Amino acid sequence: MVVREFRKSDKLADVCYDIRGPVLDKARQMEEEGQRIIKLNIGNLAVFGFEPPDEIVQDMIHNLPSAAGYTDSKGLFAPRKSIVHYTQEKGIAGVSIDDVFIGNGASELINMSMNALLNNGDEVLIPAPDYPLYTASVALSGGKPVHYICDEQSDWYPDIADIRSKITPNTRAIVVINPNNPTGALYPRELLEEIVQVAREHELIVFADEIYDKTLYDGNTHTSIASLADDVLFITFNGLSKNYRSCGYRSGWMVVSGNKRCARDYIEGLTMLASMRLCANTPGQLAIQTALGGYQSIKDLVAPQGRLTKQRDLAYDLLTQIPGVSVVKPKAALYMFPRLDPEIYPIADDQQFAYDLLAQEKVLIVQGTGFNWPQPDHFRLVFLPNADDLTEAIGRIARFLETLRKR
Ligand code: PLP
Repeated sequence: MVVREFRKSDKLADVCYDIRGPVLDKARQMEEEGQRIIKLNIGNLAVFGFEPPDEIVQDMIHNLPSAAGYTDSKGLFAPRKSIVHYTQEKGIAGVSIDDVFIGNGASELINMSMNALLNNGDEVLIPAPDYPLYTASVALSGGKPVHYICDEQSDWYPDIADIRSKITPNTRAIVVINPNNPTGALYPRELLEEIVQVAREHELIVFADEIYDKTLYDGNTHTSIASLADDVLFITFNGLSKNYRSCGYRSGWMVVSGNKRCARDYIEGLTMLASMRLCANTPGQLAIQTALGGYQSIKDLVAPQGRLTKQRDLAYDLLTQIPGVSVVKPKAALYMFPRLDPEIYPIADDQQFAYDLLAQEKVLIVQGTGFNWPQPDHFRLVFLPNADDLTEAIGRIARFLETLRKR
C-alpha cells in the first residue's frame, strides 16, 4: 500500500516563531520528567501571580451565561464605543465605531491585517529585533519581511537612515512596536514624527503595536503614533493581554485611522477577513468596556515601589554585574534584551546557547535570533518571576556564562 505523506504547505517555508519553538519543547519534556524550570521566556503575566483586575474577572463570570452567541464580525457596539473613547484620550482623531475591529487577541488582527494587504513580493519594514509574529505573518501572507535596525547604542530607537535605505518600490508598510518587545524601548514623540514623515513621503501604512502603552516605568508617558498625522494611514493594535494581565481571555483590537480615504479597498478586505472568522469571543469583547473604564491597576505595578518596577530594577542590577553582559534598561513593557559581548562569549549558535542553558541550569530564555536579531549575541528575558526566582535564575545564567567565557 502506498502511504501518502502529508507535508506542511510551502507557505510555511519562511515562517518561524521561536518563542514557542524547539527549546520550549525540550523544557516541556524536562518538566514532564519532574524537573523544575525557571521560565523567563514568555510575557504571560497571570501565571506569575499578576492577577487580572478583579472587575474583569467578575465581568467575565457575570456575562458568560448570556454570551454564547456570535456577534457582529467587527465586534459589539459598546466595547467598540469604549475603544473609540480610548483613541480620543490618546489624541487619535476622527475614529468612528466603524473603524474599530475586535479580535481574539491582537495576534489574530495582526495576521488579518497582513493577509488583507499583501501580494507576493510586497515588502513590509519590520524592526530588528522584532516581536516575531510580524515577520512570520508577513511571510505567511506572501510578503517579504525587510528588517530595519533598532540601535542599541541609542536606547534601541529605530535607525531612521536604515529605514530609508531599505525602502523600495515594493514597500507597502512599516511596523512600529512602541513600547517595544523585546527591548523595552519607549519612543519619543520626535522620533515618531520622523517615522511618520518617512511613511508620508513613501505612502506607507503604519502598523502601530501599542499593546504595552500603559506598562510604563519612571513616570514615562506614551505617544500614539496615530495621533501625529491625519494624512497617513495607521492601523493601531492594542488589547487586554498585557496592561490588564488577561492574555488568556484573548481580547484585542485594531483601529484604522488617518488617511482612510485611500484605503477603502483595503478596509473592505479587512472586513471580509473579519467576517470569515465570524467574530471574536463574546465574553472577551464585553470585558473591554470594563477594563478601559475601570481602575487602572497597572499603575500600581509600575509605580516606583510597584512589583514590576522592583523586578525590572533587580534584573537589571543583577545582569549588569555579570562580566561581558550589558543591557539597556527598559522604560516600558516586560522584557530585557541583554547583549553578550562576543569577545568574551564566542557564541556561534544562540539557539544552542538557549538549549544548553536550559539543560544545564534549568532556566528558559529565548535566543535573540528568535526576534530576527541578525547576530547570535543577545537573548530576551521577561522579568515576571518573583524576586527570589529572578535572583536564582540570573545567578544560574551567570554561572552558565562563566563556563562559556573565553580564557
Ligand atoms: N504584540 C506584541 C508586541 C506582543 O508582545 C504580544 C504578545 O506578547 C502581542 C502583540 C500579542 O497580543 P495578544 O495576546 O493580544 O494576541
